[in-house]
Amino acid sequence: MVVPYKHEPFTDFSVKENEQAYLDALAVVKEQLGKEYPLIINGEQIFTEDKIVSENPANHKEIVGYVSKASKEHAEQAMQAADEAFKTWKKWDVKARANILFRASAMIRRRKHEFSAWLTYEAGKPWREADADTAEAIDFLEYYARQIIELKDGVEINSREIEHNSFSYIPLGVGITISPWNFAFAIMAGTTVGPMVAGNTMLLKPASTTPVIAYKFMEVLIEAGMPKGVVNYIPGDSREMGDYVVDHPRTRFINFTGSKAVGLHIAERAAKIQEGQIWMKRMIAEMGGKDTIIVDNDSDLELAAEAITMSAFGFSGQKCSACSRAVIHQDVYDTVLDRVVELTKELTVGATFNDNSKFMGPVNDQAAFDKVLKYIEIGKEEGRLMHGGKGDNSEGYFVEPTIFADVAPKARLMQEEIFGPVVAFSKAKDFDELIEIANNTEYGLTGAVISNNREHLEQARQDFHVGNLYFNRGCTAAIVGYQPFGGFNMSGTDSKAGGPDYLLHFLQAKTVSDMF
Ligand code: GLU
Repeated sequence: MVVPYKHEPFTDFSVKENEQAYLDALAVVKEQLGKEYPLIINGEQIFTEDKIVSENPANHKEIVGYVSKASKEHAEQAMQAADEAFKTWKKWDVKARANILFRASAMIRRRKHEFSAWLTYEAGKPWREADADTAEAIDFLEYYARQIIELKDGVEINSREIEHNSFSYIPLGVGITISPWNFAFAIMAGTTVGPMVAGNTMLLKPASTTPVIAYKFMEVLIEAGMPKGVVNYIPGDSREMGDYVVDHPRTRFINFTGSKAVGLHIAERAAKIQEGQIWMKRMIAEMGGKDTIIVDNDSDLELAAEAITMSAFGFSGQKCSACSRAVIHQDVYDTVLDRVVELTKELTVGATFNDNSKFMGPVNDQAAFDKVLKYIEIGKEEGRLMHGGKGDNSEGYFVEPTIFADVAPKARLMQEEIFGPVVAFSKAKDFDELIEIANNTEYGLTGAVISNNREHLEQARQDFHVGNLYFNRGCTAAIVGYQPFGGFNMSGTDSKAGGPDYLLHFLQAKTVSDMF
């Protein structure tokens, strides 16, 4: 028996000791910046000439690490190692597999701030956000370990007198995890260990801007007793190496988190049956959103303004759950807009690796910086700039939290994912129109309704078509096992990370009918 799952608590940095512990962890990590990291294939460390350079987005001259870059040949080696390891790993006692995750989780918990400090350096995360990312990684380990234990005996089914029928779950084979930089620890870890604890073996291709934290996680898995070949660490170029593993006939499934464009590219390639391939690949994708908070006329307006501000600008809006659209009832539009502008004026932007004084850090890299500024220019054509609008990439990739008012519901700013600190406001005449605008994108990830009207909330429960719907709170910060996370339509494959059925995506059911 294991104790029931509870999510990992967040750290209160107003407590002096916690603040000091984080500063100490930042100092420990700073000492280790600029090291070289190998690939890990079949438990072997392989250093390559060609390197991915991971930089600190808040100070791009500072190098976080030089990470070996896998070629197609390395990917092939990793595939063969994973294929071989699968033969034994799939037969491991389920509890023994789960125990690796429990041990890994305990090890991370003991060095929690150190992992978060890596996220502050490598992903530019403010402390609060880094702490939540690490807590979520721990949660995924704890939650999926329990889930596989629950699933291990399968499901009771009927048998007649002359037979015994059983229905149980077996793993699929070799899977590919392609993980994002925005939850560089939590999503990377969760999308790897979920399928892995279910008995599959994995190739892990972390995002190219955050490969070091993924390496630190590999160290933990190895120390926790993961056998060689079970997870193989192969950072590399998406088009060259990434496409190679997606296409590979031995790839059984792909677990992807990232942009819609890349997700669709992978889905298309994965659908093509390659020579010698004897299955259809499964694809599990979590791909982005254009998430809306709607505010009713009868509602707590202060709560609405806070929810919009926090959901739009937390981690510089670089969450696929982030609020990038605020759709407000005409009666309260000006009040909410003005209050969001006021609250946003108080937000500070800057580097977060020296102290905890800044609310927002940088955006991910030069490409993200350029993209956000491009959308700000589009916004100036499509709406009224109320706050922000400027960026400065002289040291780090900093962009001001930016608010546009009076944007038409079908404008680009209201339809396209920006993935940065930009929120667009639109006005609606009544609750039906609030819902209609909320649903008018191709995405369907998160959304929130701020209302005191129970009837309206119930209407939204039915009609607001998103995978994660929140009432009277912001639309980010889902917790593993509490708010299973994942969206509809172009937001992905309708799967739910941190949900009770997540591992079933990486299992297949086998029926055995035994006559006697
Ligand atoms: N699960 C996160 C949240 O609820 C978002 C994940 C993502 O951005 O990919 O805020």
